[in-house]
Amino acid sequence: SAELRRAESLIRSIPDHPKPGVLFRDITPLLADAAALRATAEALVAPFAGRFDAVAGVEARGFLLAGAAAIASGAGLIPVRKAGKLPRPAAAEDYALEYGTATVEAHDDLPGGTRVLLLDDVLATGGTLVASRRLLERLGYEVAGVSVLFEIDGLGGRETIGDPALHTVFRS
Ligand code: 5GP
Repeated sequence: SAELRRAESLIRSIPDHPKPGVLFRDITPLLADAAALRATAEALVAPFAGRFDAVAGVEARGFLLAGAAAIASGAGLIPVRKAGKLPRPAAAEDYALEYGTATVEAHDDLPGGTRVLLLDDVLATGGTLVASRRLLERLGYEVAGVSVLFEIDGLGGRETIGDPALHTVFRS
């Protein structure tokens, strides 16, 4: 749609952030625009309409989209957080970074079998979302799909997720 094309034009590319050689996709100008925020929140959830009861957003930028997407779709919200932030994590999942490892954690506040749509802002290598999906599955949730605002091509993320239920709104 014209609204989504305008939203895409608001994503800003920042060279050499957070380190040399990285082209960082900055979604804050899109978030700041009321119509673009609404259009992207709706586009994230539309392909999965009626197939999820909650959205899970990955810290930290995934949270910004998950709140909007939850309200837009009448769903609940599960925060997937970095290690040590939640008061009583029910499960933790480690994953490899370029240097070292990271951990995602979540609570188990919803019943087993709850259908969850996993959301994040950017898909790069896919490591964060694969670990987050494993985490949700270990908590007994049914992952209805993975939806991402911006897919960076050529880093293998789509292959790593390897899931036909992957939806990305924009890609480079
Ligand atoms: P991956 O695990 O797919 O390699 O990296 C994805 C995670 O890193 C996401 O949680 C995302 O927020 C962050 N990320 C990686 N590259 C970018 C980028 O260019 N822009 C933004 N906004 N986030 C990024």
